[in-house]
Amino acid sequence: MAGADASSGRVLVVEDDAAIGGDLVAALAGAGYEVRWAQSGYAARGHIAELAPELVLLDLGLPDEDGIDLCQDLREQLPDLLLVVVTARSDESDAVRALDAGADDFVTKPFRTEELLARLRAHLRRAPAQDSDTLRLGRLTVDSRARRAWLDETELALRPKELELLEVLASAAGTAVRREQLMDQVWDENWSGSTKTLDVHVASLRRKLADAGDRWDRIATLRGFGYRYELD
Ligand code: CA
Repeated sequence: MAGADASSGRVLVVEDDAAIGGDLVAALAGAGYEVRWAQSGYAARGHIAELAPELVLLDLGLPDEDGIDLCQDLREQLPDLLLVVVTARSDESDAVRALDAGADDFVTKPFRTEELLARLRAHLRRAPAQDSDTLRLGRLTVDSRARRAWLDETELALRPKELELLEVLASAAGTAVRREQLMDQVWDENWSGSTKTLDVHVASLRRKLADAGDRWDRIATLRGFGYRYELD
């Protein structure tokens, strides 16, 4: 019985490896998703029109085209589509290229199916933009107007830039945020100093969250790209 954990949503798996693709499709269908499987870029483009998926799980190494190109095209056509790229662990630079091309997230092979499903669920239930000044996400509360933040009942003693960083990262929870975007939004477009200041602020923010009882790895570092506020 699927019960309370039943998932819903339309997912397209783009994967040419028969074993990996077959397992993924079975796992996703078992979890309640409406799922299609494309084994080439050409087939993927067809399914996109037909299925109108909410999420695409995209292997970068496709037989007929570079997955990065497909990623870029999908992002241009469908700005709201959730794009999760699957790549070999040895090709971290590909993951960064994919994020640059518009992917929301990436997973590396080999991955545990359960872990992947949890990530997809998190993406699919990602809250739409908050309409109030208060952001609530798990144990975290951020009141933008009052410029205060709490983990459970514990108020976090954050410096102004740390609070702003937390706001930007937490409101994009589960997705990678580029360093440049953080620099632009939290500092300003004309910032000409070292982006080292960003790392220092993130380190401090991470420590303050952990001191209040949060995961020490709440804010993940994506080397060469930026940061991601991790969902539970
Ligand atoms: Ca492949």
